[in-house]
Amino acid sequence: MEPDGLAKAQSLSPGDLTAPQPKDSLQTLLQSGGDGGIFSQLTSNPLFTAGFGLAGLAAALGLAQKGLRQGAALLRRRMLVDVEINIKDDSYAWFLHWMTLYQQSQLNGAHMVVARGSAPPQPGLVESILRKLTPGMRHLSIQTQKVEHANGAIHTHFTLVPGPGKHILRYKSAFILVNRVRESKSRDHQTGRPWETITLTALYAHRHIFQDLFTEAHVFAAKSHEGKTSIYNSWGTEWRQFGQPRRKRPLDSVILDQDIKERIVVDVKDFLGSSQWYYERGIPYRRGYLLYGPPGSGKSSFIQALAGELDYDISILNLSERGLTDDRLNHLLTIVPSRTLVLLEDVDAAFSNRRVQSDVDGYRGANVTFSGLLNALDGVASAEERIIFLTTNHVERLDEALIRPGRVDMTVHLGEATRYQVAHLWDRFYSEFDPDGVSRRAFLNRLHALGLIEDEHGQKRPGGAKTVSTAALQGLFLYNKGHMEGAIATADTLLQPVYEQ
Ligand code: ADP
Repeated sequence: MEPDGLAKAQSLSPGDLTAPQPKDSLQTLLQSGGDGGIFSQLTSNPLFTAGFGLAGLAAALGLAQKGLRQGAALLRRRMLVDVEINIKDDSYAWFLHWMTLYQQSQLNGAHMVVARGSAPPQPGLVESILRKLTPGMRHLSIQTQKVEHANGAIHTHFTLVPGPGKHILRYKSAFILVNRVRESKSRDHQTGRPWETITLTALYAHRHIFQDLFTEAHVFAAKSHEGKTSIYNSWGTEWRQFGQPRRKRPLDSVILDQDIKERIVVDVKDFLGSSQWYYERGIPYRRGYLLYGPPGSGKSSFIQALAGELDYDISILNLSERGLTDDRLNHLLTIVPSRTLVLLEDVDAAFSNRRVQSDVDGYRGANVTFSGLLNALDGVASAEERIIFLTTNHVERLDEALIRPGRVDMTVHLGEATRYQVAHLWDRFYSEFDPDGVSRRAFLNRLHALGLIEDEHGQKRPGGAKTVSTAALQGLFLYNKGHMEGAIATADTLLQPVYEQ
């Protein structure tokens, strides 16, 4: 009988560097048993062989799993195509809205009006199974938007959009896996919002449908915006849409003194048609307007109506807003959404910072400084045009340095209501009841008698230093809606500051 492995191992001299590896000794040990050896004992032991079988099976399964994973990854790389949209991209919101409406229209059997040539998908076996699994969308998120109307009323809109999770979308002949992921840990450091992405996955062979899908979603977003003006406010270091787009304000609903409106509109349109002229001369393609006058003279209303006329949106920033620093202002002006009029309200706030008494009268002003404002206005020209409207109620606080080409090219005074404006505003409210203008004349005479407006020769009553704003007039006419005698009879209430804004 051969010496057993243990004895053999023990018989090695300590200096023998070619000592058998543990594997050898194990083999020896296992083989050394003969009939009664350990190996045969173990192999004949059903528990041991079952254990080995299980371990082998587990290893094989592990291998198969790994193989499958690798295979799936390979398949994914070769056969699938992903498109990722992140929350900062404009397409994020309109894709979600489009998808909600698209899914609904598919379920109702209707087809979205904007679908360009998308053949109605015929429900096949896979689709009917998927529909059973996902009857519409099960995870929905609610998006709430508040809209403040000019009359102060607040309307709230709720929209349901696909919530975080996986959704299946059948678009034309393709199935698309839509995975909306909200990161719980990472946030957009500029806005503090949780970071989100949507990934659309389709078969590689169907990759061309993304082009159609995004075009359709974009056409849909543009359609729902048609005839509307979006308002953007600053939010941290970015512009964010404020509420739903509003119905465009007609230009003729804003009554300015004779020719003022026409002059500005002609100037802006001329500017928008002169890009080549600016580029050829290497001049930054921008134009600035300063509108000054008392509150309620129609400055904001006019800019809103002008935006509607040009089919532009508006980005509004109030310079007296606390926390608005020079850097933020500068940054915001470089990232203005395209096709928007920038409205910088209360521009005198930047000058108030220089007032010595600002600390004394408790008004410390905003953080934007005069030089910060000039820098922002002169900032790096973007590729697109930039149209800025500055407004102030205190023109006397401004500095001449502001009135330079490129900063402010046109200065317009929108003052208290003139006779011309009163007459036109009257017509907008009462023309159908007063076709020959008799009541209008009576109202104008009444206002002249109160010392609020000039007579037909442009003369104000001696000593008549009183004025009335167009906003106050609008208030009186609203109060006497359809009742012009009431407006004439209560015209003296305009002398009281009750209608002042
Ligand atoms: P401002 O910006 O000069 O303070 P707004 O444009 O905010 O004034 O006007 C306040 C309100 O008065 C709005 O509801 C607007 O419709 C009305 N209003 C003021 N001026 C005019 C005007 N010239 N024409 C028509 N409406 C006006």
